[in-house]
Amino acid sequence: MPTPLWATIAAVLAACLYTHIRMKLFRSSDKSHTEIITKLLPAEGFKWEARIKNKALFGVSEIPFCRHHDLRLIKFNDTYGCTENNCKTSIEAADLKVFYQVATSYIERDIRNKYS
Ligand SMILES: [Zn+2]
Repeated sequence: MPTPLWATIAAVLAACLYTHIRMKLFRSSDKSHTEIITKLLPAEGFKWEARIKNKALFGVSEIPFCRHHDLRLIKFNDTYGCTENNCKTSIEAADLKVFYQVATSYIERDIRNKYS
């Protein structure tokens, strides 16, 4: 007995729908694995730009941001400062390396805890 036409059409439509859903799920899970997120994280009185892929792969920008205005500090002579009017946020260029290392250490700990 031959299969009715409506049954064949229904089977084809169901197969298409199944493939479509599988592709959608695959794409969304694939995206979460490759996506790099950028965040401004507070540490040592500044905010630091972190680009995070996962707990084993992340980077922190060496120039911090003003914690009040979310602006990247700009170098004037030997000092990095916020460009917003009347903002006193600044750091000596000579101190920046130590602050960066301390901040990175805190950020690394937070990322490790968050993604484990
Ligand atoms: Zn500022």
